[in-house]
Amino acid sequence: MEDIVRKQQWWIGNFALFMMLVGALIIYTTTEETIKNAYLSRSVIISFLVIMGIFIFYISRRKMEIVLQTHLLSLMLLVVPITSISFLPYAAVTVWASSFLFLMIALISYQRIMMWYAIIVTIATSLYVMGNVDTVTVEIDPTDHYGRIGMIVIGVSIALVINHLHIRNLNRLNDLAIQLHDTARRDEETGVLNRQGLNEIDFPRSEQQLIFVGIHLENYYELARYFGEDIQLQVLRACIERLKRQLPPYQAFARIEAGTLLIVMEKPDEVACKEAMEELSQEISVPYEIEGHHVYVNISIVIDNGDGATDNRKRRVQQLLTALQEAAQQNERVMCIDQEWRKDQELRVKAAQSLAQANIETDFHLVYQLQYDVRSEQFIGLEALVRWKTPLQGADRPSVFIPIAEKSDLIIRLGEWIFEEGCKTRKALVGLVPDEFTLSVNVSPRQLTSESFMPFIERTLLKYALKPQQIKIEITESQSLDFESQSIHRALKRIKTLDFPVSLDDFGTGHASYHVLERLLPLRQLKIPKQFIEQIGASEKRQSILESIFQLSESMHVECIVEGVETGEEVRIAKEIGIHLFQGYFFAKPVPLKEIICLLQKTNEGTIH
Ligand code: C2E
Ligand code: MG
Ligand code: MG
Repeated sequence: MEDIVRKQQWWIGNFALFMMLVGALIIYTTTEETIKNAYLSRSVIISFLVIMGIFIFYISRRKMEIVLQTHLLSLMLLVVPITSISFLPYAAVTVWASSFLFLMIALISYQRIMMWYAIIVTIATSLYVMGNVDTVTVEIDPTDHYGRIGMIVIGVSIALVINHLHIRNLNRLNDLAIQLHDTARRDEETGVLNRQGLNEIDFPRSEQQLIFVGIHLENYYELARYFGEDIQLQVLRACIERLKRQLPPYQAFARIEAGTLLIVMEKPDEVACKEAMEELSQEISVPYEIEGHHVYVNISIVIDNGDGATDNRKRRVQQLLTALQEAAQQNERVMCIDQEWRKDQELRVKAAQSLAQANIETDFHLVYQLQYDVRSEQFIGLEALVRWKTPLQGADRPSVFIPIAEKSDLIIRLGEWIFEEGCKTRKALVGLVPDEFTLSVNVSPRQLTSESFMPFIERTLLKYALKPQQIKIEITESQSLDFESQSIHRALKRIKTLDFPVSLDDFGTGHASYHVLERLLPLRQLKIPKQFIEQIGASEKRQSILESIFQLSESMHVECIVEGVETGEEVRIAKEIGIHLFQGYFFAKPVPLKEIICLLQKTNEGTIH
């Protein structure tokens, strides 16, 4: 409604300016005959009209209290008595004009205030005219005061009725519009706010002082598959009901995606909040009894504490959705996001934008890390590790840009380039290292899904006249390999046929099961990540994990290499267990090829052992 009234005031401003200017023009062109009896001079009336027009126009554009604005705009009606009284002999016609004026105002006005101004001004003018003029240019007998008053009463009544009907209709329309607007802001199926509703809501305090809690039903889509859409929806509604009962008072409750809810709350104590959410997550996960079905839901919760959060609500919600995905991937029931997380996320977004424009040949390079055998006291291989030459601080690490590249086909092009560079390097080392010296190349599961990957590998090996046994393929275990995928199955089969040594990287950190190991056989190597070796001296648990992985490798007849070794103590303990292959800063850091060649030359010359 406020919008409608503002628009109307705006038009009243235009109308007033136009009418005042026209009035001023009429007075300007009026004959001397007419003006000579006027109480006010021609220039005073013209100035009054122009000033009034500009004033009303100005007021109509100001953003002020509607009631005050209407009072000020109504002042334009003063023009009627002031100018008409000036022409008193002719002015009695206002008696007639008043009814007409009321009607017009009633029609254009959405507000009673202006109506009352019109009525008061016209009654006052008419009474003044009645008391001061003998002859009037109307057809009612000048002595017939009842007739004159009757005219005014009729005018006022018609105006009030029209205005009343008009306002009533407008109010109805307004209610309907509010209802429509409200419907558009609510989720049809659950009645809570939808995304639009969430975006439009005004919070009483700054958004950094509010926490956003995202709740995602991980198996929402499966519910429809197993129980049908009706039950899926009933579960969601029941879940919302449970949440509403358990939650402390909240500012907003919205459904932002099919199975994802968002709650905005005052900032409580953070530790307490995490604990409360953990409890809440357990309560919501209690099975739902719906139409005889016993339904389980898996949920993940993300708490965004607002620290360093953007003012852009849509972006904050987007960040929460990203965090929910991350929590689901990492199997975290409750995850907190803070300034640190947001910074990291921003870096990833910038890296993704910049990576899309990167030129593989010029913007990437490889460094190499030697692998050492403490038994033979020789370097037995090296791993190629990619680096990105980017001005973005922190984004040059593969842990930042490889996961981004893996989300697009960039990893396939980049992977091919890395493989070819690795082959060039292995070729360059011929003569410097023994024949069985291997160059390990990291390969992402997505590369294996590409139909062109294996033919490319074979072509490249031929091009550089290398044997498959000289290139080790490292497949990281932390990402799940979809063995059901036909293309991965074919790629692994081809790798086996060609007799490429395969190393399972970061063993023990991801999805590997005996089933995976079996599929990857004949596996050449298990690679134990840094996290199992660091500070091993202080942890018996780690020692026993390391021991059992080593025993597994022995029983499977595969090599076992530990990476990330930084201290002599780590090497000693691993050696005691029986491990003799190592990769880590203790032996060599990842360095450019030139340095590797120098080091190998020196080793060959017998200067280093
Ligand atoms: P990864 O294959 O397990 O590589 C080992 C990581 O540990 C490397 O980090 C290496 O620099 C680091 N490292 C080695 N020794 C030590 C040590 O003693 N101390 C510490 N603190 N770190 C050590 P980087 O180069 O940042 O690579 C991280 C991950 O990125 C790699 O883990 C691999 O999964 C991926 N990656 C690296 N290069 C490539 C590539 O060319 N292709 C693909 N697909 N992934 C790659
Ligand atoms: Mg690796
Ligand atoms: Mg690793």
